[in-house]
Amino acid sequence: MVAQVIDGKAFAAKVRAQVADQVAKLKEENGITPGLAVVLVGEDPASQVYVRSKGKQTVEVGMNSYEHKLDVDTSEEDLLALIDKLNNDPAVHGILVQLPLPKHLNEDLVINSIDPAKDVDGFHISNVGLLGTGQKSMVPCTPLGCLMMLRDYHGSLSGMDAVVIGRSNIVGKPMAQLLLGDSCTVTIAHSRTKDLPDVVRRADIVVAAVGRPEMVPGDWIKEGATVIDVGINRIERDGKNKLVGDVDYASAAERAGAITPVPGGVGPMTIACLLANTLTACCRSNGLPEPEGLTA
Ligand code: NAD
Repeated sequence: MVAQVIDGKAFAAKVRAQVADQVAKLKEENGITPGLAVVLVGEDPASQVYVRSKGKQTVEVGMNSYEHKLDVDTSEEDLLALIDKLNNDPAVHGILVQLPLPKHLNEDLVINSIDPAKDVDGFHISNVGLLGTGQKSMVPCTPLGCLMMLRDYHGSLSGMDAVVIGRSNIVGKPMAQLLLGDSCTVTIAHSRTKDLPDVVRRADIVVAAVGRPEMVPGDWIKEGATVIDVGINRIERDGKNKLVGDVDYASAAERAGAITPVPGGVGPMTIACLLANTLTACCRSNGLPEPEGLTA
């Protein structure tokens, strides 16, 4: 079997176009422009790239982008004061604090100080609880993007066997909750899981979110399974820098029914879902119907 490639880049462009359409309607019919505030503390090079990209795409879909760049030694008090200001600013519908934060700042405290209704990353403890109990919440962007691609490919996921490799709060756990919400039988595997190859071999859906280059070889993949590779790993091969996923793409593509590539799979969906979440937050806060197909 040669797997169908799930093209995350094209899918993300479709999601952005849907968001842009809805934003144009909101402006015309309701006089509302959704706004996303992104807070960056310090000068981590990868974070700077992400923040720039988020700001650019926010403006491209017609939303307002507010960037707040703070010194690396910003105090917790000053950061919390900024978040409080953004929580109370009616022009701001989404707030994202770029992680990781410098060591002297308490990440949990900072994230939990964001108004849950504006928490477009879905990391606030209230949103985690709402998602875990199957209630309407803000859903973390990366797992939401994975879910959208799976739903688009399969239609219903009901009754499928899904294995999520990785149990982080950002990807693994919320991904498992979303798959459970769509009636999959879900296994969460992690660094202490015994017989990981056997666990993966049972799965109709494999979501790999580990951060170890090409650790899942093709012979772990059940014939015809769908493979969603969240990993982004920089490696050097043949003297060149290369991005690879957590799955060995070449061998997995020979057995899978469908697979996301790295790059061009899950990555582009993450920012597209951030824009979708900002639109959702804006609609909810104005008592308007939510955009269809852009939420969990
Ligand atoms: P993390 O380091 O917080 O979590 C990694 C998880 O992998 C842990 O739960 C750990 O138990 C598990 N693990 C580690 N070694 C393992 C092993 N040998 N076998 C099985 N499980 C093992 O990472 P994260 O934040 O969840 O990110 C995971 C990967 O996804 C990284 O490569 C990251 O760069 C990538 N990522 C991509 C996007 C995107 O937009 N595409 C977004 C977030 C994260």
